[in-house]
Amino acid sequence: MKKMLTWRQVIAQQWYLTKFCFKHAPGFMVYHLFEAVKLQVSIFFEFTFAVNYVLTVAEEGGDFRKILWCMGILMGAIAVSTVTFAIYKHYVFPRGKQTLYQALRMEIYEKAKEIDLSCYDDKDFYENFILATEETDRCLDRFLVFENSMIARSVGVTCTTIYCAYINPIALLIMAVVLPLELLCAAQENKKTVEARMERLPHEQQREYENRVFYLSDYAAELRLYPRMKEKCRRDYTQENQKIEAVNKKYGKQLFAYGVLREGLLARIVKEGAVWTLLLYQMLVLRVLSGAQLVTSRSCIWRGSNNIKIVIDSFRTVAENSAYIYRIREFLQMESTIVSEDNLILPKEGGSLAIEHVDFGYSQDKPVLKDVTFSVDPGQKIALVGYNGSGKTTLVKLLLRLYDPDGGRICYHGKDIKKYQVMSYRGGIGSVFQDFKLYAATLKENVLMDVENGSREESYQVEKALYDAHFTLENNQLSYQIETPLTTEFEKDGVNLSGGEAQKVAIARTLYRKQNLIIMDEPSSALDPLAEYRLNQELNEIAKDKTVIFISHRLSTVRDADCIYMMEKGRIVESGSHEELLTRDGKYAAMWKIQAGLYADAF
Ligand code: ADP
Repeated sequence: MKKMLTWRQVIAQQWYLTKFCFKHAPGFMVYHLFEAVKLQVSIFFEFTFAVNYVLTVAEEGGDFRKILWCMGILMGAIAVSTVTFAIYKHYVFPRGKQTLYQALRMEIYEKAKEIDLSCYDDKDFYENFILATEETDRCLDRFLVFENSMIARSVGVTCTTIYCAYINPIALLIMAVVLPLELLCAAQENKKTVEARMERLPHEQQREYENRVFYLSDYAAELRLYPRMKEKCRRDYTQENQKIEAVNKKYGKQLFAYGVLREGLLARIVKEGAVWTLLLYQMLVLRVLSGAQLVTSRSCIWRGSNNIKIVIDSFRTVAENSAYIYRIREFLQMESTIVSEDNLILPKEGGSLAIEHVDFGYSQDKPVLKDVTFSVDPGQKIALVGYNGSGKTTLVKLLLRLYDPDGGRICYHGKDIKKYQVMSYRGGIGSVFQDFKLYAATLKENVLMDVENGSREESYQVEKALYDAHFTLENNQLSYQIETPLTTEFEKDGVNLSGGEAQKVAIARTLYRKQNLIIMDEPSSALDPLAEYRLNQELNEIAKDKTVIFISHRLSTVRDADCIYMMEKGRIVESGSHEELLTRDGKYAAMWKIQAGLYADAF
């Protein structure tokens, strides 16, 4: 959150959230603001109007029944107000807040689903996105508090000012003179506080990262093996703390000076002194003010200034909060560039795939794929091989249209893949990623990757897909078979699968879908070589009429492919069958010789 907003931008963010809240929870918002107004009006009547009335009746020796009536009405109003507030606090507020949290999060999730994967490569975007989503609930909380406070305090100021103007207009002059000075001081203090917070923020984020390293289980095992990394994190944590301290020190003196000037000198000595001098002079010397009027005037001025001070103080929070809202809105306004040109639906049957002179880079200055050209006939099994970083996974991402090529094109069924509806196209390809994820859901849901319909056929197909992927249900402690929850994060009965088993679940996902084009990026890297070999034999059988693109750095798994493409530094440097490539005695053959030694024992 490095950016500070102008006041115009701050107001725009507040207006945006106001509209958002009224759109999604209008009843709640009306009640929320009603309570705010009611509170200030009742404070005014109880502590200013009623006090003035009662004291005036007493001073003038009026009828005591008037006082009793006044007290009775006041008590009645307080009783009603207590009930409406209890309803608000226990029913309306918790529900309304949840409705708004849900509505904003849903908008964010929907957007997160559709924005380009490339956004996640942009460090600034990613940081802001994470920060903004983490702040969503707090953003709404702060907004609701501010909205309530603004309305309430404005009503409070209006009531007291009008009443003071009616009783003792001259007293208002003091407020008119001192208040602008107080506001000026407060504005400077706010500005400095926001600047300090902005300067601290990157260090606080870095410190939070170092903190996470210590408490997240993801790092626990490695930190035991590499204790020096722990030392590095600890040192970085301390350094970030020192930087935060330095920022606090830099702004501390200025903030202290503004605080003393505003709270002490202006608010207490100048304003209070002037008010008491004026009121006592009016009462004792000029004799134009009664005791009741003195008390009421003092109360009006005190409440009026206090309310204004609270509003001003909350501007600081508003400025900060607006910066978060700004980020959330920036995110919500992002448009995906991966869109369909012609909205074509992908044909159901398999087709040929052609990669034509494809160039691509994650950033402009670093090409990752250069002039990649090859084609795959329906039903063909091809393999992409090469050392790490040669661009294999990147090519898969382009084939899945997670990114678009910078140059050249990819055609499926003879048409540029940009012409198909994005989800129709992606849905037609079965893929297993290297970094697949298992979800905190049942085993069945992890294969379906969808909401289940609960039919027997569905369960049968899931079991079959798992069986075909060599995931044997009996061999695992799956107490509820395919209904067993995966991961133990939320379920006591849950199961944590080993890397190899998890990979089979990922493969089963693809087998369940029965797509005609299957892309497998290192699908069996977590299996031992023998298990991998057997699985590949099976996969070849299951997918015998499908087009398969297989990526592996273990060449033993790709030797049966119809054509093998060897990649190096983003280019295809060799292609042909396993035997042809060995005969050529080039880079593939060299890689094969190294690996043959490594895995010889396994076969
Ligand atoms: P392979 O699958 O052959 O190991 P990759 O396609 O994963 O290779 O990576 C090719 C190159 O692209 C590498 O230099 C890698 O660092 C870079 N790369 C991969 N993903 C990204 C990304 N999201 N942003 C920037 N560079 C990336």
